[in-house]
Amino acid sequence: MTIQTPPLALLLDVDGPIASPVTRSVDAGIIADLNSLVSAGIPVVFNTGRSDTFIAEQVMAPMIAAGLPHGAVVNAICEKGAVWFSFTADGPGTIHVDKDLAVPAAYGDQVRSLVASSYADHMFFDETKRAMVSVEQHVSVENADYLIEQQDFDGAAMKLLFQHGLGAIRLGHESPDEAGNIDFRVDPTIISTDIESIRLGKDLGASRAVELLAAQGIVPAAWRTMGDSRTDYAMADWLHYNDHLVKHVDVRPADGVPTKPYAVLTSVDLGLGEEIIHDDAGAAFLRAWLDAVTD
Ligand SMILES: [Mg+2]
Repeated sequence: MTIQTPPLALLLDVDGPIASPVTRSVDAGIIADLNSLVSAGIPVVFNTGRSDTFIAEQVMAPMIAAGLPHGAVVNAICEKGAVWFSFTADGPGTIHVDKDLAVPAAYGDQVRSLVASSYADHMFFDETKRAMVSVEQHVSVENADYLIEQQDFDGAAMKLLFQHGLGAIRLGHESPDEAGNIDFRVDPTIISTDIESIRLGKDLGASRAVELLAAQGIVPAAWRTMGDSRTDYAMADWLHYNDHLVKHVDVRPADGVPTKPYAVLTSVDLGLGEEIIHDDAGAAFLRAWLDAVTD
């Protein structure tokens, strides 16, 4: 196999930098620039907590419709590393699932019932997840109202885990199983709660990204990671500590930018105002990378 060494590879969180956190869809300009980057030979890898279905509908289908070049392969790591697939202009390839990283199905069934009986006004059970259990805010509900209900739901979800004999952690609060182990995590985000194996994370996604590209004969000279949450830094952390050159873009730096042994960029580094955040910042960085590799 001929080894390709593109100057950059992109490892992209989806909700926030690519998909609008308000509409949860992807702007046409972002889709066009993603396709242009792929055309320029830049590997694009998505690294998301979302399901493969979400990525297929919100990212893959629009990229194909907008003219994803034939022969190009785009990789998507979903459910924080538990699920992954590649797609081309012809559509998705095999969906891979690491079953060892799945939440027990009986627990998922009970969460589905719990949402239907007590939380259906504010949130819905994500039926497209294969390894995680995710419960998401309805788009029609005010986020502030959702966040209040979410606290209550999270408590009920933790209690259910305990009843199933499963040890879990939520925001530092530990509820071990009888043997003292914690195998699961309840992770509240601003629009959802994810219940997942403790082994899932953006770092697992990063390791899969490197493996997937290597299997395709691609060894990038450097990486750019981009996200909107503190947990997204785990992508760049993993790459840095495994001797890959990386810079991380934070599109929602209001939480404060932590000190890291690699460069962290925000919209200000592109000469934009600090009010340029979310997918507006994501779009600006995609354009900057495109300009850098096509000049
Ligand atoms: Mg995000």
